[in-house]
Amino acid sequence: MTDFITRFAPSPTGPLHLGHAYSALLAHDMAHAAGGKFLLRIEDTDIDRCRPEWEALIYEDMHWLGLTWETPVLRQSEHLSDYQTHLMSLADRGLIYPCSCSRSDIRAALSAPQEGVASPQTYPGTCRHRPMSDRETGDALRLNMEEAVKQVGAVSFEETGDAYKGCHLLDPQRLINEIGDAVLGRKEIETVSYVLAAVIDDAAQGMTHVVRGEDLYQITYLQTLLQALLGLPTPIYHHHRLIRDESGNRLAKRDDARAISTYRAEGTTPEDIRKMVGL
Ligand code: GLU
Repeated sequence: MTDFITRFAPSPTGPLHLGHAYSALLAHDMAHAAGGKFLLRIEDTDIDRCRPEWEALIYEDMHWLGLTWETPVLRQSEHLSDYQTHLMSLADRGLIYPCSCSRSDIRAALSAPQEGVASPQTYPGTCRHRPMSDRETGDALRLNMEEAVKQVGAVSFEETGDAYKGCHLLDPQRLINEIGDAVLGRKEIETVSYVLAAVIDDAAQGMTHVVRGEDLYQITYLQTLLQALLGLPTPIYHHHRLIRDESGNRLAKRDDARAISTYRAEGTTPEDIRKMVGL
């Protein structure tokens, strides 16, 4: 029996929809087919958007879908100090700096003529010179990507999803140009971005496989880099197709029409849901 530990990691910011059902069912089915384990993790670090009623609905919907998971369920809001510890360990290595730029500051800096910035999407580095001792309340914390790529050797991850199948080697220059100085510590509250929290928890929970939607494929590059920096193992990634509406748009949390709870109320069965998502 191969080790296969995976998870479904929703954020309780709205009702689960068909896309979530597909993700949870697929991860669950893959774990069971491999004789492995399926975990549920509640990614509730964003206290402004997460609500207890959405969390309660996640459990209800998942039970109704016929899913079972290992307990206890990890709730990220109960582990904030672990995330801070990891973030500060990166700061101690000179990899993190405080940033006070607002979205409009960044837009303005990006529209001004500048040298040495390859991609118009990445943070232009306005605060990069600031030491951590300069941190003020309300500052976000960013990763100094140029420093980060210097501190790791060759890094790669394995992908088994159809769209990106293969072994992907991280290219330092592309990390700098296309991802840049990502926010790892959020400005609103003393917490870390979900990219970092997920990496820490995937390691803490012993994930061997991460099964999730293709919309999260790009952040895998940043997450793999963070794993290398923190000395954490890199799981195998499986990014699955997205469930789309009739116009081809991916479903959003606010798309209540396709909420699992709406289907439930209308008398749809869990078997119907499986068929609808192509399982
Ligand atoms: N919490 C994320 C979401 O709801 C999922 C993160 C992950 O699966 O790595 O989109």
